[in-house]
Formats: sequence, C-alpha cells, structure tokens
Amino acid sequence: MSLSRTRRAQRTLKVLREAIPAPETELRYETPYQLIVAVILSAQCTDKRVNKVTPALFDEYPTVEDMAEADPDDVYPFVKSVTYPNSKSEYLAGTASKIVDEFGGQVPETTNELQTLPGVGRKTANVVASVAYEVDALPVDTHVFRVANRIGLVEHADTPRKVERQLERVIPKDEWGEAHHLLILHGRYTCTARNPDCDDCPVAPVCRYFERLQRLPDPMPDLDARHGRYFCRSCDRYFDEPGTHTDRYGLEQTACPRCDSMTVFDAKTGETTKRVLDFRID
Ligand code: SF4
Repeated sequence: MSLSRTRRAQRTLKVLREAIPAPETELRYETPYQLIVAVILSAQCTDKRVNKVTPALFDEYPTVEDMAEADPDDVYPFVKSVTYPNSKSEYLAGTASKIVDEFGGQVPETTNELQTLPGVGRKTANVVASVAYEVDALPVDTHVFRVANRIGLVEHADTPRKVERQLERVIPKDEWGEAHHLLILHGRYTCTARNPDCDDCPVAPVCRYFERLQRLPDPMPDLDARHGRYFCRSCDRYFDEPGTHTDRYGLEQTACPRCDSMTVFDAKTGETTKRVLDFRID
C-alpha cells in the first residue's frame, strides 16, 4: 500500500491508541527527582528491573538533597543489579548534587539544562522533560527506533537523532509525548526485537516490514537435500556453495552462484533464504 509517511503515522497512532489505552511510562516514580533517577537507571536496562531496585533506593534517599549527600559507593549496593551499576551510582550522586548546587534543588525543565547533568544524554533529557513537565518531546530509544523503521514512519534513518527528526515532521507536536509511549509499548510487547508478533498486530495493514514479509516466496516443500544444500528456482538446480547478492535495501542475500538469482531455497527446510531488512540499535 502506498501511503505517505504522514498518513502512515496517523493510521499507526490511531490503531495503537485503540490497542494501548494507557500510554504512559512503566517506570515507577512520584516526583521529578525520582523520575530522573529511574530514567538514568533504565539506560540499557529494562523498566522491570529498575522498578525492582527503586523502592529501596527511594526509601534510603527520598529527596534530591539526600542523594546529593550520598557517596557513589553507598548508592552502589542499591543499584548493583541494574546494568552499569558503577557508572550509574556516580551519575545519581553527581546529578543530585548538581541539581542542588546549580538548580536550587529543582530538576530542570528544559532538555538543554537537563543535558548538563551527569549521565543525562539527549534521550534521558527528552524523557524527563516530556514525562515530568509535559514538554513536547519525542525521545527515541531502542524500541521507538526499531518500530518506527519497521513500520516505515521514517526512511534511511540509521541513528536515533535521524529517527527523532523524521518522526517530528510526520507527527503533530502535541502528540509527540503520547506517540513516544505508544511506540515504546508496542515495541516492548508486540513488535519485539527478535519475534515481532506480526500475525496479531493491529499495525500490520500499514507496516512496510510486514508488507515485505508478505512478498517473500512461499516455501518449496518437495526439495531433496541429497542433491545439494540450496536450490535455485530461477535456473532450477541444486548447489552447495552459495554466492551473495546485495538487494535494493543494501542487505546481503544468498544468491545462486550460476545465475546470481536471489530466489534461493534451503533444500532441507524448503524455506526461502531471503531476509527482510530489519532495524536495531543496542
Ligand atoms: S506488523 Fe510486525 S513488524 Fe509491523 S509493527 Fe506489527 S509486529 Fe511490528
């Protein structure tokens, strides 16, 4: 289906709104200070794990002033089960003391000010500004990056910054915060990195990735692996040593060494060897 990216974004958000009635962060927090702590801890870690450690951490350091007086070594035992606990302990203590010293104990509201805090990059700043202060922002994490690329809301966007800029052009500003949560939750529970549940996905009718999956050739059930590991349907022959061919999406595909066709099948399973371009950031 040929849709403009703006139209595709409208259709995507419409169905996701129906599927996800409460699009909000799954991090548990009560104050902007607690939110920034949770978001710093969630970098390259799951919200679930972060939610396990924050209750005890917030009991010990209930305010930003308490955390500002902490030594990173004291914070470490509370966060040792999240990723990068050494660095994150230092970020938490450093961020709190900067908030107290330079921002009068208030977590700053602008993304520029937030980014001056230790451990706070563009994505963290955008999340805090958007969630705590309802500043219009569209933070791009690994889920938003993958989902936006798969669906085709962005094109040739190989960095989070490019994804952010392109999404901002196709989604109205007052929907950025909501869109961010919808895309994250869709990526976390349906359009997962390894096993996207395309068969049960409400976005499938407008999804470019799904459309490409549908164009893959059907399996060939009657192949005989005794004749060779692969079968080329274009020149109707088996072979063992495949060539490679780069497709129009820049993806290296298995190809027939004689005719260069990519219409190649695994002789054992009968499945096509063709892959569909996918998108990940760590
Ligand atoms: S159809 Fe598949 S790839 Fe597309 S959004 Fe849904 S789960 Fe993701």
